[in-house]
Amino acid sequence: MKNLFGLDLAELESELSGEKKFRSKQIAEWIYLKNVRDFESMSNLPKNFRSKLSENFSIDRAEMISKLESKDQLTTKFLLRFSDGVAIETVAMKHDYGNSVCISSQAGCSMGCKFCASTLKGIERNLTAGEMLDQVLFVKEFFDGKLDSLVVMGSGEPLLNFDNLTKFLRMLHDLVGMSYRSMTVSTSGIIPRIHDLMKENFPITLSISLHAPLDDLRSELMPINKKFPLRDLIETGKIYADQTGRRVTYEYILIENLNDSPEIAGILAKLLKNQLASVNLIPINPVLERGFKRPSRERIEAFARILNSRGITATIRKEMGADINAACGQLRNKFLDK
Ligand code: SAH
Repeated sequence: MKNLFGLDLAELESELSGEKKFRSKQIAEWIYLKNVRDFESMSNLPKNFRSKLSENFSIDRAEMISKLESKDQLTTKFLLRFSDGVAIETVAMKHDYGNSVCISSQAGCSMGCKFCASTLKGIERNLTAGEMLDQVLFVKEFFDGKLDSLVVMGSGEPLLNFDNLTKFLRMLHDLVGMSYRSMTVSTSGIIPRIHDLMKENFPITLSISLHAPLDDLRSELMPINKKFPLRDLIETGKIYADQTGRRVTYEYILIENLNDSPEIAGILAKLLKNQLASVNLIPINPVLERGFKRPSRERIEAFARILNSRGITATIRKEMGADINAACGQLRNKFLDK
């Protein structure tokens, strides 16, 4: 049976080519707006049409295997499994400014960043647009329909799954009604794909994972830096901000005695001056296999102060969900322990 979930409007229309065109729109509304999982519930479709749909098509959704809630109840992590058995983690977060979802773009990850859990077992496969949308709709339902924003910061490198990613963003905008301004895509810095993203002209926020302002150090932490070095990456960020008018956010994990010194803060400030950018400082979250340590609160604040005093807006990211391994860099293909 052909799965309709994940098809955009044009694809639905071609799948249902013998039918009246507006039927596809109705079906898309049931599937993507009303979160309906069976054809029988689509009450504005003729009964015989519904039966025909049930005989020929399916609406395949991920299955929730487990769910973990943080002690403060602000973060919930779901392990979702797709029909081929591949599983990924998705995180739902309640902030003062609204509800958000952090989705995975790949099962596993090929980037090999030294501080991150998602890449420990390499890449399993890309997720389809439908599988990304599935995570969003799942969390939207969990929040009783009140979902305000999306971050593509779960496992995977979204820009290495470019076509599925852009199809997903478009569907989320066109069919679910989320504004592009409420979406953020985070990348480890795949320069040619950042240029491609620019051409799409989505007013989304681009987040670049930086983590070090010196090539040697960055290459050590993020092997991708050998292919796309800092200078070119920062230049690309600048072009992106200039062309889109959108501020680029640079993510910077702070790791004790590695990239957290006042001197390095100064180098970072220099690197980012003259561009529409802000820095999101992330005190590193522990990953069992990795062994990096988080700096003291004083050292983190000192780092932020240096950036701010040199005109670079820097904020310290509020930690969420670390007690359930749901924080940045802690997502995997399956739950570790709890
Ligand atoms: N591959 C993309 C998308 C994943 S985003 C990217 O690299 O941007 C995940 C964010 O969490 C990135 O900024 C990543 O660098 C950060 N992260 C990874 N491991 C972390 C850890 N142990 N502690 C804190 N943040 C981490």
